[in-house]
Amino acid sequence: MACLFCQIAEKKIPSDIMYEDESMLAFRDIDPQAPTHFLVIPKEHIETLNDLTPEKSSLIGDMVNRARELAGEEGISESGYRMVMNCNRDGGQAVFHIHLHLLGGRSLGWPPG
Ligand code: 5GP
Ligand code: ZN
Repeated sequence: MACLFCQIAEKKIPSDIMYEDESMLAFRDIDPQAPTHFLVIPKEHIETLNDLTPEKSSLIGDMVNRARELAGEEGISESGYRMVMNCNRDGGQAVFHIHLHLLGGRSLGWPPG
């Protein structure tokens, strides 16, 4: 099993897990770019956003909803946050198992560099 995030989902690689259910996992980013920085992943291996199908797209809504709730638990709902999904080279995707970033706890610049 080569995929890093599949291995995290299977607990073969430890992570700081914030939430888990049958379809998804949320855990803190190992190299946080903001005071709060966590990732929400589907347990199913989907390589990139390009591989998403209409049948699977409700998963994204569930991931966004979970990230929103976790942002509240982190106390950053009012100060604000950013959700990001990177796709392929120009998007800066490094791990090819789709994941939603949530960053907050400081003022984030815009536009991204
Ligand atoms: P991408 O650039 O693919 O959108 O983001 C991948 C993210 O995964 C990066 O923010 C990176 O720090 C994080 N990451 C990479 N390897 C690990 C790991 O082993 N554990 C955790 N918790 N995060 C990781
Ligand atoms: Zn995977």
